[in-house]
Parts: sequence; C-alpha cells; structure tokens
Amino acid sequence: MVLEQLQLLAAITRIDNELADLQEELGDLPHEVKALEKEVRSRQQAVDTTQKHIDDILQTRSNAKIRAQEIQDKEKKLSAQQFQVRNNREFDAITKEVEMLKVELREVEKTIGSTMMTEENLRRVYDAQFADMEDVRDRLTEREHELNDLSSEHNDEINDLLSRRADLLAKLPKTLVVQYEHIREYHTDTTVAVRKSCCAGCFNAVPPQRIVEMRTYKTIFTCESCGRLLYPEEMQHIQG
Ligand SMILES: [Zn+2]
Repeated sequence: MVLEQLQLLAAITRIDNELADLQEELGDLPHEVKALEKEVRSRQQAVDTTQKHIDDILQTRSNAKIRAQEIQDKEKKLSAQQFQVRNNREFDAITKEVEMLKVELREVEKTIGSTMMTEENLRRVYDAQFADMEDVRDRLTEREHELNDLSSEHNDEINDLLSRRADLLAKLPKTLVVQYEHIREYHTDTTVAVRKSCCAGCFNAVPPQRIVEMRTYKTIFTCESCGRLLYPEEMQHIQG
C-alpha cells in the first residue's frame, strides 16, 4: 500500500520535473520576443524621424528653387526696363535693385547647395538606420518562429504530461494529494530518494533508524529539514 503510493508519488514528481524543464526551456523566449518588438519600434521611430528631416530639407530646396526662378525673372524684366529709362536717376535705381537681387540670388543658391549636402548626409543616416531596423526585425521574426514552434510542440507534450499526472493523482488518497501539492509549492522535486543516508533534495542526513523504518513501507516519511517526501534508494519505480 505505502510502497505503491510512494511509487506513484515518485512518478508524479518525475512528471513535475519534466513540466518544470519545459517551462524553463520556453523561459527566456517570450521575454526576448517582447524586447525585440520594443527595439523594432524604437528603430522605426528613428527611421521615421530621419525621413521627416529629409522631407523638410526637400521642401526647403523646392521653395528656394521657386524663389531663385522668381529672382531671375525679375532681373530679366529689370534689365529690359533699363533700356527704356528716361534719366540717370531711374537707371541707377534699377541698377541698385538688380544688385540687391543678385545678392539675394547668391544666398538662395547657397541654401540650395547646403540642402544638397544635408540631404546626402541624411540619406546615409537613413540607410544605416533602416538596415539596423531590418536586422532587428529579422531577429524578431526568427525568435517568433522559434517561440511558435516550441510552444505548439510543447503544448502537445505538456498536455500529455498533465493527463498522465491526473491519472496518477487519481490513484492516491485525497489527503496525500493535498500534502503533495502543499510540498510542491516549495519544491518542484517533491518526492526524492534517500541517497547515502541523505535527503536527495536538501542533502541533510536522515537518521539511520528512519531509513530502517522506511524500508518496511509502513509509513510515508518526510525530510525533517526540507519537508520533501522520501523513499528508499532501492525502491523500484513504476512507469508513469
Ligand atoms: Zn530534505
């Protein structure tokens, strides 16, 4: 009776250890996927900001080009007018105006030139940022696939283990199930062997007299130090 119960408890603990391993395997992946998603978002923002700068610079250049055309048209008109002046005063006034337009045109052309350089720099930044983002996005996709594969693969395994666990638990008395689940809140390896006269869970010594009693399979013993359920090392295991 007690032997059978201990065998069941040991089998359930083996299943619980497997479940814990599966959980651990999945462990970092969900966290990693979340972190990568966040990184992709922040890199996308950097790319968008650079794109916005490029758009602004293109707008500035387009405005400058329109202004340059206006200046050139006006200058042409003034040059034509200069042939029709009636006196020197009018001639000088037009000359002065043309001079001012030439100064402004030089400024506008300077602006156009500097937008070219800025655009070139920004495009280099954009390309680097975009490649960076694609890199992280690729890593994210990879990790997502891994997580999906692992999850679905694990789901089958986990369901199988849980149903085997339920079958085994159903064969135990209720009080023992309650005791088992209570100990499991503290130790995943709830049921352990006594090895070299020590609890295999916490490695504290088990008194020789208890080991002798344990081998008679009349009572279920717990470790006095950690509370885990104990069974003699030589106990036969059942398939569970
Ligand atoms: Zn112990």
